[in-house]
Amino acid sequence: MSLFKYFFTIIFFLILKFDVIIKELRVESTDMKLGTITKKITYLLIVFMGFNLSNVFAESIKEKGIVTLMYHRFEENKYPSTNIKVHDFKEQIELIKNSQNEFINFNQLKSILIDKQTYTGKKILITIDDSFQSFYQNAWPILKKENVPFILFVNTREVNDKHANYMSWDQIREVHQSEIGTIGAHSFSHEYLVKLSQKDVVQDIEQSNQDYLRELGFIPEVFSYPFGEYSSEIKKLIKDSKYKLAFGQHSGVVHQKEDLFELPRFPINEAYGKIDRFNFIINTVPLPHKFYKPENKLITSNNPPAIEIEFTNSAKGINCFSNEGGQWGPSEIAFLEKNWIKIILKKPFKTRRGKINCTLKLSDGTWGWFGRQYVLKN
Ligand SMILES: [Zn+2]
Repeated sequence: MSLFKYFFTIIFFLILKFDVIIKELRVESTDMKLGTITKKITYLLIVFMGFNLSNVFAESIKEKGIVTLMYHRFEENKYPSTNIKVHDFKEQIELIKNSQNEFINFNQLKSILIDKQTYTGKKILITIDDSFQSFYQNAWPILKKENVPFILFVNTREVNDKHANYMSWDQIREVHQSEIGTIGAHSFSHEYLVKLSQKDVVQDIEQSNQDYLRELGFIPEVFSYPFGEYSSEIKKLIKDSKYKLAFGQHSGVVHQKEDLFELPRFPINEAYGKIDRFNFIINTVPLPHKFYKPENKLITSNNPPAIEIEFTNSAKGINCFSNEGGQWGPSEIAFLEKNWIKIILKKPFKTRRGKINCTLKLSDGTWGWFGRQYVLKN
């Protein structure tokens, strides 16, 4: 139907314009005629190409966004899903330094997201969860040498207990006192928060805040949900606390219209840290949305959830992938409007965390990325 519409619009337009050209031919001199005709034909070609392009690719996104990278362990090769090899990490930092993309620190992130300061180009933010000793030993010297800013999310129980795999408070203070490191909150126990009662979540967060206050003299302004898991209740609790921003573990590009308590990050590990894929990720752009359901990321009886996303711009050409049925693959989508899709999951999520990722090639050749993560109650 829409193809017909475009076809007739173009034909109608051409007839209209040719009519104007023919009229001009009759009244103007020969020299004038040639110039006008050339101009008209060029104009028509551009219009025609414009129609074609908008059919093939969705329009480009103005805000290039902040690609936020999430790391955990460095050179702990026993844990490939949360580890990055130092050699690969160095290569990644080098790649960003040599690109048009620019590293930002936490204050710049706040200016962009909270004060809505305008910015140009693509920004990159490094984040590290769990404050493992392997970060301090293997990544901290590189970030210091290269002067790359980052956020380190600290869960306090193991640090308090002087656990050998975790950084000490002295080391965390050293990071905090540097020009490049910002300390973020990551709870006390690092438990699955969705399994705890509301009262226990409040207590856990409160306990960690007391630890930050005692050891560092302040409460962090940014939170990272353990395992990237949250329900609407937990999100509200974090929002109502002193934290100003919160990151999950769903992939996607941070931008000014994103929910400040549901910020996406790309997990970088051995499998997803290979340089080609990494290069693709750091050049992705946001796909802003106006509406998303279900809002609650905790799945109870609604497995699989009925997902709908209303994007700000046309999503024609979008592809969505998920781990429905316990396996990664493309999922069926249906369009309600050209910017509004339904993801039709045929099988329930089977693993603890259900994920969806949607990608869309835009008219300027960049790729937009949108992702969300669900968590199953049990
Ligand atoms: Zn963690």
